[in-house]
Amino acid sequence: MLIGIDLGGTKIEVLLLDETGHEVFRKRLPTPQGQYAAILQTIKQLVDEAEQHAGQTCTVGIGTPGAISPATGLIKNANSVVLNGKPLPTDLENLLQRPIKTENDANCLALSEATDGAGAGAAVVFAVIVGTGTGAGIVVHGKVLTGANAIAGEWGHNPLPWPTASELPGKPCYCGQQGCIETWLSGVGFEAEYRLATGSKRASADIVRLAEQGDTQAEALMQAYEERMAKSLAHVINILDPDVIVLGGGMSNIQRLYTNVPQRWGKYVFSDQVSTRLVAPQFGDSSGVRGAAWLGASSLPGKSGY
Ligand SMILES: [Zn+2]
Repeated sequence: MLIGIDLGGTKIEVLLLDETGHEVFRKRLPTPQGQYAAILQTIKQLVDEAEQHAGQTCTVGIGTPGAISPATGLIKNANSVVLNGKPLPTDLENLLQRPIKTENDANCLALSEATDGAGAGAAVVFAVIVGTGTGAGIVVHGKVLTGANAIAGEWGHNPLPWPTASELPGKPCYCGQQGCIETWLSGVGFEAEYRLATGSKRASADIVRLAEQGDTQAEALMQAYEERMAKSLAHVINILDPDVIVLGGGMSNIQRLYTNVPQRWGKYVFSDQVSTRLVAPQFGDSSGVRGAAWLGASSLPGKSGY
């Protein structure tokens, strides 16, 4: 059986999957804040508990924030900063006494949805997490595309493409650049735009609700958001040309994106027609931990579809 761990900023979740994708056991614990050694121990505790349910030694895959640097073996780019610079895979292999597969959370979302979710059977799946930040992962023919620098898919820190005059130079980003896609498409970025336009502070879900109720300012911001997502994804389509784009993270709950964004991206994609599908994740918030579990599989159930 397969164990997946989703290591997040606020919680660590374990999932025990059988080889057909059936969920056998699941548990989550809060992430010890700022304590690396305690994070390792919590992961071990969850793996031990899952294996008691399995009654056997299982493979373990882990979805982490950030990425493992191929140059150093250390975590980089993680928003849980205590992990940055730490040899997480090596430490866990020592602690759990077995090889561990590690991928970032967006790659795990892509693998989960490409295996038996919303992108099952598709040759190329691009999965986006639009939540607090904006990350993405790529799966090609059932395999995660990690890349030479372990940043394949990290388009959130490219600049917003085809910017209008009012979108330049853009807001500063924590990565050191200005006007990154993440500063526009993350929930935080969307809320910042609303604050700038109206002077009041509201959560993304409230802004979406106001737009539904006919509030003209909220509606204008929603449309601007959809246009920016369309431009940002058209840029990806022009380079990678995925069959399916899956949206994850908090902003993926906005249902109108799935119809409005594809209606807008045609004018930016270099093609007479665009057959790319924009879809919600079939497994919702569970996709990250399912993808982590699939990292350990020697073969995937969806593979006959390719
Ligand atoms: Zn950035």
